[in-house]
Amino acid sequence: MQGLLLVISGPSGAGKGTICRALREKMPEVGYSISATTRPPRPGEKDGESYFFLDRERFLQMLKEGAFLEWAEVYGELYGTPRKPVEEALARGQDIILEIDTQGAAQVKRYYPEGVFIFIVPPSYSELEKRIKGRGTESPAAIKDRLAWVKKEMAQLDLYDYVVINDQVEEAVAKIQAIIIAEKCRTKRLKKIGWHQLFWS
Ligand code: 5GP
Repeated sequence: MQGLLLVISGPSGAGKGTICRALREKMPEVGYSISATTRPPRPGEKDGESYFFLDRERFLQMLKEGAFLEWAEVYGELYGTPRKPVEEALARGQDIILEIDTQGAAQVKRYYPEGVFIFIVPPSYSELEKRIKGRGTESPAAIKDRLAWVKKEMAQLDLYDYVVINDQVEEAVAKIQAIIIAEKCRTKRLKKIGWHQLFWS
């Protein structure tokens, strides 16, 4: 059975990173796409783990070569999903998660409409503001940019199949696990692999 392509987006400060880290522990069999970016690493981020940190020239070269499944400019930096690892995971039946912005999600949806699109939101705008400011990893200018971007991201909600409100991380993770299980039981997916014919054999 082909793996599930799961796309997780949500405004900065929604807690996507924390949720994905918790999911990784709970579901080690699921693959996580490592994006390429031109943004500099934050303290503690390792090349090839958090991201592949590339200079702009290399990123643009890879883009020209068609190496990205999708890409976008976010907060003035370029981000892209390397195509090959995603296609290989799906082909061998492994589920894979892409944590990308809404621009990238729209591109993936055109190319792969059977993907599962999940939007993570914080409980409220004021909570989001508190989280972004409390992180202490961004400059005041970057915080302003991220808060301005929230409106644009929220406007893309209709692109997604599911909304997960991240109030308690544990609960949000459990919801995503439930979504994955439910998606695997969908009639159209089971029919695609010929399960309904095997049943009678
Ligand atoms: P950060 O710099 O905080 O790690 O990520 C900034 C934003 O870029 C987040 O919304 C994140 O989801 C998005 N992002 C990370 N990797 C990719 C990618 O490969 N493609 C796209 N389109 N967005 C990405």
